[in-house]
Amino acid sequence: MTPSAPVRRGAGRPCLDFTGTLRHRGAARAVEELTDPAALDAWIHRCGPYDRAEDAGRADAADLLAARVLREAIHRLVTAARDGGGPAACDAASRDRVNSAAARPVPVPALDAAGRLRHHAAEPVAAALAVLARDALDLVASTALARVRACAGDGCGALFLDTSRPGTRRWCSMSACGNRAKKDAPHARH
Ligand SMILES: [Zn+2]
Repeated sequence: MTPSAPVRRGAGRPCLDFTGTLRHRGAARAVEELTDPAALDAWIHRCGPYDRAEDAGRADAADLLAARVLREAIHRLVTAARDGGGPAACDAASRDRVNSAAARPVPVPALDAAGRLRHHAAEPVAAALAVLARDALDLVASTALARVRACAGDGCGALFLDTSRPGTRRWCSMSACGNRAKKDAPHARH
């Protein structure tokens, strides 16, 4: 594993980065990034609260299933809240799923002797999922919900938080969907 790759998906919220691990959701060319427990480990280490891979624990097959089920529940929750005018628009099963994941203990921060902040959890994977679930609950219950967008890229649909001042961001990332859209629309150059 690369020790210090500061990869951020750029969705603006951890829960939205998490939903982005299923790309082109619902399309024939959907791409599952959480292909196995090791992929989940790598994602948690890269995007989660743990500074060291060994703190992020080791996911097993049950963790992988739980992560995917939570991810889709978060996606339904955020999408329903965004499109339906608020979090009450979410179906009960998805809401319950996110609530239960959020109820699990989250990683505990502690400063070590060298002054570095470390995060620990008895169940690191479940704790990382709890962080994501709490982030989703916080997001849909906050005014930031109005700034959640679905990428306008062809078949992308990735959710992101639009933090641009005018609130007109259209793509999950300029390097991917933004550039592709520009290429596909040469008349938009001028
Ligand atoms: Zn996109």
